[in-house]
Amino acid sequence: MGKILIKNCTIIPISGSVIESGVIAINNDRIHYLGPESGLPTDWKADTTINAEDMVALPGFVNSHTHAAMTLLRSYADDLPLKPWLEEKIWPQEAKLTREDIYWGTKLALLEMIRSGTTTFADMYFQMDKVAEAVVESGLRASLSQGLIGVQDANEERLNTGISLVKDWHGAGEGRITTMLGPHAPYTCTPEYLTKVADKAAKLGVGLHIHLAETKDEIENIKAQYGYTPIALADKLGLFSLPVLAAHCVHLTTDEVNIIAEKKVGVAHCPESNLKLASGIAPVADMISAGIPVAIGTDGASSNNNLDMLEEMHIAALLAKGTTGDPTVIDAHQALTMATLNGAKALGLDKEIGSLEVGKKADIILINKKQPHWMPLHDVEANIVYAAKGSDIDTVIVNGQVIMSGGEVRTLDVNEIFNYVVKRAREM
Ligand SMILES: [Zn+2]
Repeated sequence: MGKILIKNCTIIPISGSVIESGVIAINNDRIHYLGPESGLPTDWKADTTINAEDMVALPGFVNSHTHAAMTLLRSYADDLPLKPWLEEKIWPQEAKLTREDIYWGTKLALLEMIRSGTTTFADMYFQMDKVAEAVVESGLRASLSQGLIGVQDANEERLNTGISLVKDWHGAGEGRITTMLGPHAPYTCTPEYLTKVADKAAKLGVGLHIHLAETKDEIENIKAQYGYTPIALADKLGLFSLPVLAAHCVHLTTDEVNIIAEKKVGVAHCPESNLKLASGIAPVADMISAGIPVAIGTDGASSNNNLDMLEEMHIAALLAKGTTGDPTVIDAHQALTMATLNGAKALGLDKEIGSLEVGKKADIILINKKQPHWMPLHDVEANIVYAAKGSDIDTVIVNGQVIMSGGEVRTLDVNEIFNYVVKRAREM
């Protein structure tokens, strides 16, 4: 860390208007100044200067829902509905994953996320202490939760593992790691178990990360079993009195949209996963109209099959337009806000990240605009959402540390990761 000056770049702060040619001054982990160079105090001297005249600066993307180590199962099982995909393919393979597998599968995900401009992600999986180790090494920021299944014998032990993650890792990596408890879903946790987890979360002072209302089957089964839809059940059990990050929210009634808005539930919209598993299409335009700051997530790499937030944002914008028949729904600025500031809100981190503002953490990406698909540049935000690719990301800064420069990730050994993953995939 130290003092970094990013010069001559187009800046998209998200929370304010675009600055055409400005500077960003970083003091250790925080943004010290942004604006025209003339406004920077002359006695402020940088240790490192990045000349970014071909770059656009914006807050790093927040991937609001993923299962990082599922990169190991990328393209292992495709073209199946959620239930057989999970029960016949994914869960049996996951049961064979070792702690080392989780570590290296996560590292592969981190490499992919850094390369495509993600600076923060929300992860729910198992052996999460190995995920936390990889996050600390990578320099990324993450909200981590141990996935909890509450219908099996080992559910008590799992809850204790989830609690240990909170106690051992919350605040680790210079504060880059935060934690939640992660009851997997109403179809894998009984109401009693959900209540128990929520009570624990309240005592620990953390939120919940859960899958809700993903498929029509889930809605029907939960309704048949408990007499409520998943959202209504979660509300009735008091889950929404805590900060909740709810992945999917695909099948919602108007009343449920209102509950989500009123209870300030964070929604992680995962359009590619929902399309690929044919789970349905979330009513994002309705949620936004109701004032819900919908965030975007990739979900795991085996139902996507990549972790590229630029692509996810692009699909989210197009899908909302196509399904509503209204091309004005989710404009470019809204899409960028969903992928950054709304993600930060959904993770409860918007006081620190999600936009470029003085005093916030320096989580910044630089996108190389000197490319054929970027020219000409009529509208910089539209170019990012509708034309840019993950591979256009040049520089990634998290917590004031440059973790990628010129497309080269500094904190992870690419060959080491590739070797492990290729070898392990052969054994599978
Ligand atoms: Zn998921």
